[in-house]
Amino acid sequence: MKYKLILLTSFILFHLLSSQVKLYAQSIRNCGTDRHLEYQKKNIPGLKQKLIKQENNITKATKSRNNFSKGKQIIYIPVVFHVIWSLNIHNISNAQINSQIDILNQDYRRLNSDTSLTPNDFKAVAADVGIEFCLAHQDPDGNWTDGITRTHSSKSVFEMNTDEAKFTSTGGYDAWDATKYLNIWIVPSISDNGMGGILGYTQWPGGSWTTDGVVIAYKYIGNIGTAVAPFNLGRTATHEIGHWLGLSHIWGDDNGACWGSDNIDDTPNQAGSNYGCPTHPSISCSNNGDMFMNYMDYTDDTCMNIFTIDQKIRMLTVLDSIRPIIKTSGKCQANSIESNKNIIDFSISPNPSSFMLLLSWKNQSLAKKIEIKIIDVYGRVVIELTKESNKLNTNIKINNLEPGLYLINLKSGSMLGTKKLIIQ
Ligand SMILES: [Zn+2]
Repeated sequence: MKYKLILLTSFILFHLLSSQVKLYAQSIRNCGTDRHLEYQKKNIPGLKQKLIKQENNITKATKSRNNFSKGKQIIYIPVVFHVIWSLNIHNISNAQINSQIDILNQDYRRLNSDTSLTPNDFKAVAADVGIEFCLAHQDPDGNWTDGITRTHSSKSVFEMNTDEAKFTSTGGYDAWDATKYLNIWIVPSISDNGMGGILGYTQWPGGSWTTDGVVIAYKYIGNIGTAVAPFNLGRTATHEIGHWLGLSHIWGDDNGACWGSDNIDDTPNQAGSNYGCPTHPSISCSNNGDMFMNYMDYTDDTCMNIFTIDQKIRMLTVLDSIRPIIKTSGKCQANSIESNKNIIDFSISPNPSSFMLLLSWKNQSLAKKIEIKIIDVYGRVVIELTKESNKLNTNIKINNLEPGLYLINLKSGSMLGTKKLIIQ
């Protein structure tokens, strides 16, 4: 009887513990960025000193940045997603990646549907950051891309500190030139020195370009497919890209004390990270309430809804000082792609169009088929068709497309052509 009792107790304890481990892994946000930074500072000679100098320069540049809010020009960041998959389920769909791009463009433009949940106390400092993200149209060789690479790997756990996801030689995939692209690796799972449960991590700005970018586990991308609650609204990427643009955690990474700072003036001083979704005001460090709904806290996706004006200034300053090329790299913006590989001679009429357009091409030495793609400013293919190339023209109905700037891409064998299309 006693033996049976011990067995029963052990059985219950085992299940209690294992369910808690499971709960911990899936319900508590855990970002690896600060530990990755500590590891790099310890192991990369000179990095610590370089980052101290860099921080001084950012602080100075941030203070002298004036009239930022008058500039209404949107900055576009070209993104490449590297999907590293071991099982089929890890190989998430283009639609799931597109949902992530949409979420980033809502959160960084303050077009998210939950801005009403920002407490009135903080509404005055809420910012439209003025940054948008698109899937890259051109790969590093200048060829057409949908902005997604897919790599089958025998590995399903990727060590954070050694950046295994970021190298083909360690089962991941080599970065595209990080001065020109934001690289985001999607992996089955991430470990920190053998410990699991990390949603994502980012290399702090100023490190090596070969490891620059963001790594996120496949369960925390976008809001469809494999996305798992409570991190199924794409805010893990919003948070990690905040790090990529130089934002720290809102509590200042001081293990619950009040001395640490996120170097942002308009976020309240806060003791530690918040989890789940507290009720405002949730007070610490004698503040009037933590800004737990900030994207740089650890709350659930449904709870997050704000970047502040000072966070915006810091992000734009970091872009200017550390990532100056990416804004003008031409890997994303529709208006900078035309000069590349315009080999197929074709015309669009009328342009601007509003209902139907006629696409005509010249009789060059084309392959039998010609592939036609219409792509929006975020790099998404919105119309795709294939025609016999000897037909020399085709009508395309475009009345379902929103007004705006698009690209028309033609491909026939090795020949390519690209033009801008405006839909009114
Ligand atoms: Zn973080």
